[in-house]
Amino acid sequence: MPADTVITDIATTQLSIPLQRPLVTAAFPIPAIDTALVRVRTRGGHEGVAWSFAFGRGRVASLVRLIEDLGETLTGSDALRTEALWARLAKAVGFIGRRGMAALAVSALDTACWDIAGKAAGQPVHRLLGGCRDRIEVYASQGLWLDRDRDELAAEARALVDQGFRAVKMRAGLADADEDVARVRIVREAIGPDVKLMVDANQAWDLKRTLDMGRRLAEYDLFWLEEPLPHTHLEDYARATRALAMPLCTGESQFLKDEMLELARHRAADYLMPDLMRMGGVTEWMKVAHTCEGFGIPVTPHLFMEHSAHLAAACPNAVWQEYQPWWQPIMATPLTVRDGALPLTDRPGFGIELNDSAVNRYRA
Ligand SMILES: [Mg+2]
Repeated sequence: MPADTVITDIATTQLSIPLQRPLVTAAFPIPAIDTALVRVRTRGGHEGVAWSFAFGRGRVASLVRLIEDLGETLTGSDALRTEALWARLAKAVGFIGRRGMAALAVSALDTACWDIAGKAAGQPVHRLLGGCRDRIEVYASQGLWLDRDRDELAAEARALVDQGFRAVKMRAGLADADEDVARVRIVREAIGPDVKLMVDANQAWDLKRTLDMGRRLAEYDLFWLEEPLPHTHLEDYARATRALAMPLCTGESQFLKDEMLELARHRAADYLMPDLMRMGGVTEWMKVAHTCEGFGIPVTPHLFMEHSAHLAAACPNAVWQEYQPWWQPIMATPLTVRDGALPLTDRPGFGIELNDSAVNRYRA
């Protein structure tokens, strides 16, 4: 075993990263990004950095405790044996269930080990995983929430385009369907015909409303309609996908590869959106993405652009990284969007350097 990649200790830090303005979706309001930051260290001095998050300090306190508990099973092992470590972690959480918080905890540990793998090899993770491309197109996901009134919505949409974004995502899912349609029209008019527009209903609709809205929104040329239905309603997703010309996207709420691949088997959507932490980390995310390629289905990463952009850049069937800057306040070097895309770093691992004073400031 290469001695310098042996895991010696795992440090966790609970953070609460405030948002300038609480987010409002059809699912729930979000005042801060409560985060479990994980640093896995090795004998050779490598440090793998990753995180998972939840909404609520109490929940993240439990997540931190679970990560610490599971982390103890990894010390003394080679961080590069990601498959073996993932299998060990999966076994360790078998009794409490592999989904939910267990997947979030496994994800942070697994993703930190991939950061170490890149650092030990002196290579960025996107190249280690296959390196299809050096940049990944992004869509702006940090604005256009449900609490914006019509004027704010138009102004914010124009501002995102002025910042260089060539695709934007807005939220829908209000009780009043006419208002949802009016707001999509306002954003489309504000961004013009050439900027791509995604609409996310955060599971607010049933099948009838989805079919009705899919037809009413057709004239606004959506790139995709995201999570219109409750995420477990696979038959309804498949029916809506067959019935509507507009592409559908779902998958961010699914856990682990078996749930994600059920979506693929059902042809539940045109785009599938695996979430790094709900997949249990890089190891399982890549299996999902490659299997979706076999089904002929494109994948698009949910959140976690600091890590997921590397994974997307390594997959031939990956499109569109979500630009969501929730963790940018703890970065020493913030990511910059160029020509509507994130350029991938050449720094080893995920190339993440933390701003230690910011980490201390947001300690919860
Ligand atoms: Mg979504």
